[in-house]
Amino acid sequence: MNIILMGPPGAGKGTQAKKIVQEFKIPHISTGDMFREAMKEGTPLGTLAKKYINEGHLVPDDVTIGIVKERLAKKDCAHGYLLDGFPRTTPQAEALEKLAKDIDREVTLVINISCDREELIRRICGRRVCKVCGAPYHIDTAKPKVDGICDLCGGPLIQRADDNKEALMVRLDHYEKQTKPLLEFYKARGLVVDLDGSKDSAVLFSEVKKLLKGLKR
Ligand code: ADP
Ligand code: ZN
Repeated sequence: MNIILMGPPGAGKGTQAKKIVQEFKIPHISTGDMFREAMKEGTPLGTLAKKYINEGHLVPDDVTIGIVKERLAKKDCAHGYLLDGFPRTTPQAEALEKLAKDIDREVTLVINISCDREELIRRICGRRVCKVCGAPYHIDTAKPKVDGICDLCGGPLIQRADDNKEALMVRLDHYEKQTKPLLEFYKARGLVVDLDGSKDSAVLFSEVKKLLKGLKR
């Protein structure tokens, strides 16, 4: 299982990714999570990434490719991986070709989760996340039991700095211009399966599961 999860911000990639890695025991490689972790820790990578991320821009390719290269070289990826949020540009897709060959784990499936723009905006602008454990909430459709407090761990709920309308417009624009065209590259090889991200996440996961159970390991 050498899988890429693709789709616009808000389509539900992160939610499906968490369920997939739990069920199928492969490492979850989320470049967004890696950058947020570095930002939280205040490392040089975090300081650099923050300038781009908070305004909705992409982190430069050399930096992003560098962290994925390091991650894919770790032992746990020798039995498969789930990439979430990478590749997002043509140079990243080209770099991945080489990195995947190096570990003898070429991409076998691209799950493309789509969702219409209006719904993406609704989801992202109302999204809140637990500062401690990262669990997602929504101000209208996924409220916590106690206002502002995570049901799972009691941590405070916050809004990601890039989850505002202005930064989201920039993110959607990068998605349309740089990321969406990559689908053609993978479609030409017959690797893409399209799923409907407007569905309930549990329903969507049952489709994902069916798809993955049919894959050779
Ligand atoms: P979303 O899919 O909701 O936009 P992510 O958590 O995947 O969120 O990414 C958050 C931000 O991290 C992106 O808007 C971008 O600034 C940066 N980022 C994540 N992955 C990449 C990547 N592959 N290339 C460049 N920047 C990235
Ligand atoms: Zn929490």
